Amino acid sequence: MSTNLYSLIGLAAGVAFILALKGLSHPKTARRGNLIGAAGATVATLSVFLYVNPIHHLLPVLGALAIGLIVGVPAARKVEMTQMPQLVALFNGVGGGAAALVAIVEYLHLGAEATTAEVIFTVFTVIVGCVSFSGSIITFLKLQELMTTRPVVFPGGRFVIAGTLVAVLGTSVWVVSALGTTPLLVLAALSLIFGVLFVLPVGGADVPIVISLLNAFTGLTVAASGYVLSSTLLIIAGTLVGASGTILTRLMAEAMGRSLFGTLFGAFTAKPQEASGSAEERPVRSGSADDVAILLNYARRVVIVPGFGLAVAQAQHTVRELADLMISKGIDVAYGIHPVAGRMPGHMNVLLAEANVPYDQLAEMDEVNPTFGQTDVAIVIGANDVVNPAAQTTPGCPIYGMPILEVNHASNIIFLKRSMRPGFAGIENELLYDPKTMLLFGDAKASLTKVVSALKAL
Ligand code: NDP
Repeated sequence: MSTNLYSLIGLAAGVAFILALKGLSHPKTARRGNLIGAAGATVATLSVFLYVNPIHHLLPVLGALAIGLIVGVPAARKVEMTQMPQLVALFNGVGGGAAALVAIVEYLHLGAEATTAEVIFTVFTVIVGCVSFSGSIITFLKLQELMTTRPVVFPGGRFVIAGTLVAVLGTSVWVVSALGTTPLLVLAALSLIFGVLFVLPVGGADVPIVISLLNAFTGLTVAASGYVLSSTLLIIAGTLVGASGTILTRLMAEAMGRSLFGTLFGAFTAKPQEASGSAEERPVRSGSADDVAILLNYARRVVIVPGFGLAVAQAQHTVRELADLMISKGIDVAYGIHPVAGRMPGHMNVLLAEANVPYDQLAEMDEVNPTFGQTDVAIVIGANDVVNPAAQTTPGCPIYGMPILEVNHASNIIFLKRSMRPGFAGIENELLYDPKTMLLFGDAKASLTKVVSALKAL
């Protein structure tokens, strides 16, 4: 394949990536956008094969493809929708790690012929790629709850982080001035350690912001490795990921009422919290499906607040059935959507779209909050952190400052959950003990099915 044709295909793939992002900006065009992006990536990958003639390295290339397929395909097929963020975190981290490895190999390949600019880009790729790799592994462990989701802090932690960062920067200067494999490997090791230290203090509720930040890092790593490898396509694709990841990070931090610095290092200044986990011996008001149906039947306005538990229970179709039934009874129904409800940005929108819930019934947080005062019943289905008033009342708690859906202003609150366990941030929710709250214990789908039958019978 000629260099011109290869460049042209690269340009077309770059355009496909931009169109993909445009498509992904609206639910109606998202599927098409995704397909355009995937097609661009496939054509770009194939063009590299035809351009560089992989015959010389056929065995390692096929071996790498086989490993990727054997690990990636079953993982992507088996993953539950609720585990998607973990998978994205893992794939993102592997991407950053791969870019760092490619940069190291290319650096060894160039040897003394490497220009200063190439060495600087290599150093950047190795640092950011390794941070992204090890940081993403920690976010994976937190999201999969294989380790605590609470901030991990230790005495002097911030000095250890600052010291590691200084060591990373010092070693970078060493690599640029001395050239050689040892300083580069030391740099990679220190960057891996920094990635772990950087993510450990982040509390569970803020993990999505960090995933998005690490995703942006991986984009920048890929763009920098594109410079080292003289690949325009990698520069375009990496810059797009870096730019969109940065915008997403900023939007998510704003939605959580956080500064990025506060998200990353807030745990060092926060007051220690009482660990709260299991059931506390305080009275709560629990009810039956019939009690809930009666309350709904006499309501004029009901706001449904979906959360992570709705996704776990796969109750999106049943909740729509309930909403349709209430609408048919003349009740004004809206869904209150919190930007970080569930486990990924837009999780509730995707889930409800799957059940064909009309888009105009979904109300964003800013739109729905002023209406809770006129709401007879707020029905919270598998949500917890996103309605927890501690975010407004308890300085120093892991979600303090995060805007919430203010269901506490509704006349009645119904929680559908299985137990008294807290949400993802691991903190108690006082609203569960509020006299105007009724708890309907059980799996959200089973509970909603019972409520629908009870409401039909009224
Ligand atoms: P939470 O994790 O705070 O609460 C979920 C609730 O659902 C729990 O109280 C749980 O209680 C209940 N639940 C779980 N399974 C079921 C089930 N089968 N049936 C009924 N209830 C169930 O979820 P929220 O959506 O309120 O908040 C999201 C949290 O996740 C925030 O802290 C956010 O920061 C974080 N996060 C968000 C991401 C995003 O991008 N959206 C990504 C990663 C984290 P019980 O066990 O008693 O049933």
